[in-house]
Amino acid sequence: QQASSAPDLNLSTSDQLFTRAKDLIPGGVNSPVRAFRAVGGHPVFMQSAQGAWLTDVDGNRYLDFINSWGPMILGHAPQIVLDAVAQALPSSLSFGAPTRREVDMAELIIEMVPSIEKVRLVNSGTEATMSAIRVARGYTGRPKILKFEGCYHGHGDSFLIAAGSGALTLGTPDSPGVTEGVAKDTLTVPYNDLAAVAAAIEANPEQIAAIILEPVVGNIGLVPPAEGFLQGLRELCTRHGIVYIFDEVMTGFRLARGGAQELYGIEPDMTTLGKIIGGGMPVGAYGGKKEIMDQVAPAGKVYQAGTLSGNPIATAAGLAQLRYLNEHPEVYQQLERTSALLADGTRQIAAELGLNYTVNRVGSMWNVFFTTQPVTDLASAKTSDLEAFGRYFRAMLHRGIYLAPSQFEALFVSTAVTDDLVDLYLSACRAAMREAH
Ligand code: PLP
Repeated sequence: QQASSAPDLNLSTSDQLFTRAKDLIPGGVNSPVRAFRAVGGHPVFMQSAQGAWLTDVDGNRYLDFINSWGPMILGHAPQIVLDAVAQALPSSLSFGAPTRREVDMAELIIEMVPSIEKVRLVNSGTEATMSAIRVARGYTGRPKILKFEGCYHGHGDSFLIAAGSGALTLGTPDSPGVTEGVAKDTLTVPYNDLAAVAAAIEANPEQIAAIILEPVVGNIGLVPPAEGFLQGLRELCTRHGIVYIFDEVMTGFRLARGGAQELYGIEPDMTTLGKIIGGGMPVGAYGGKKEIMDQVAPAGKVYQAGTLSGNPIATAAGLAQLRYLNEHPEVYQQLERTSALLADGTRQIAAELGLNYTVNRVGSMWNVFFTTQPVTDLASAKTSDLEAFGRYFRAMLHRGIYLAPSQFEALFVSTAVTDDLVDLYLSACRAAMREAH
């Protein structure tokens, strides 16, 4: 027992910074889930990162399965992205005028994701989803949107209704500050429940502008779409003149070269993107059918703008990473293989310990739920033993494995994870699960 207990970790500099930060920044962090509230303890302040590894301000090293919440698909600081940024830096940090790289980026996105015929760059996933529903409303002339319980689409008012990710982790899915007027225009139904969608459409005839979803949910832990769910939504949207929006901020360029829509063979009307397309810099994008995107100003009347949109440095970083993914389809085979080793190994360890936890995985997104029930939606995800998850998280952190600090987040795998690192992870997992139990 003694030998398996977690080694001590010196976090004194992180703790000092957190003490200072709490006086200066709400909750001490610039995005809620970073505060480790759900798992106890204090956040770790980072200093540097390379490949699969993070180094914190106290010099501790961690094998990283957050990867900046998804963007770092090639691991940290890939040379091709650093070179692209270095090359772009001397020209300008920002012009506020169009540049060649924005055209190259749009062309590449459209090539890789064929349902996108025109695309607009923004600065975050939140901007992308907020803009997409405005365009859908402008296009259809209808007021409401339909989303799924536990899906997170950024922090726009319309989406903080039954939201996942940090909002769910903190137990405040309905945020104060969102007006009733806004909330009444967001309908929510359980994920994977096609009958509930059909009923909502029937109850709101000609009222629903868009159905938006994560085609694979990464914000209640990892939840795949049930057989026929995405196709069923496609048919309902077509039949009822509803704009079908895939929020691929997480899944885009991760689950396949063309995202979840390529993996499942579904063509949405609009797609939102972020994370990977910035290569670690702040970038988002929304795009879709020409007819819909031509509603956007100045082509059309739906207003959306951005001082730093298409920023030259962010675009250079994203373009370098996207080009690499486009030219190296073997990346996806490698990620599939590594992720299967991690997820299957975790499932097996839990089974050996008699815990039989549910492990869900699609491509390089996965996680282990501390429940034995199948997890297909928010309600089933909530059957997880969150105390045990917290103990597991801390036991892994002390063994140098950096997991998402919440049961309701996905883990991301990068190409920097070698077989040796899989073994390192699995031996930590075995010890931590035993300790957490
Ligand atoms: N949509 C999805 C599916 C996300 O996972 C996220 C963030 O995690 C967002 C939108 C919001 O993106 P951002 O945090 O860049 O605003």
